[in-house]
Amino acid sequence: MALPSEADLQLAFARMNYEFFNGEAPHCAIVYNERFANSAGRITYSSRPLTIELSAKHFRRHPDALQETLLHEMIHAWCYQKFGDTSHGAHFKQKLRECGLHSIYHDLGNAGPSQESKRRYILRCEQCSFEALRRTRPRRAASCPHCNKRRFDPRFPLTIYEIIELRAVGTTLDTAARRGR
Ligand SMILES: [Zn+2]
Ligand SMILES: [Zn+2]
Repeated sequence: MALPSEADLQLAFARMNYEFFNGEAPHCAIVYNERFANSAGRITYSSRPLTIELSAKHFRRHPDALQETLLHEMIHAWCYQKFGDTSHGAHFKQKLRECGLHSIYHDLGNAGPSQESKRRYILRCEQCSFEALRRTRPRRAASCPHCNKRRFDPRFPLTIYEIIELRAVGTTLDTAARRGR
């Protein structure tokens, strides 16, 4: 399936800006990045306008996930504009819920495991918020080790989330500067 054009993405942005943000999400350039292999989307705050990059490779395989990923990045843009907040913290989570998205992670349902990546799955208990990071998609039924410490318990299933987002948190120069302090 062909990817929406970048003009179509701007239309989707405008529509969701009206629907979810009262028109207050800041204007963003939206572009495809052909090199993203392990992540679906990324927002860069240092450019003007802000830039949202989407993985062409990922969305050719998962076209249904595109709107949700764009909305996720729009929430980042809105939080940045309104609060100067670039995290997945309280502001982000509240807006996420208002938009009807349920997790900071993108649940890709039955998408198969991808060989090219590391540590891509989060198992989450929706009852107690326990989370565990996994490199591979679990193949056996598992239940929350906190809600029932002794045995497998189908009342406490773990939801599998695939992590498909990558965000820049700084450069290695920042890391060096921090060490040198
Ligand atoms: Zn995010
Ligand atoms: Zn639990």
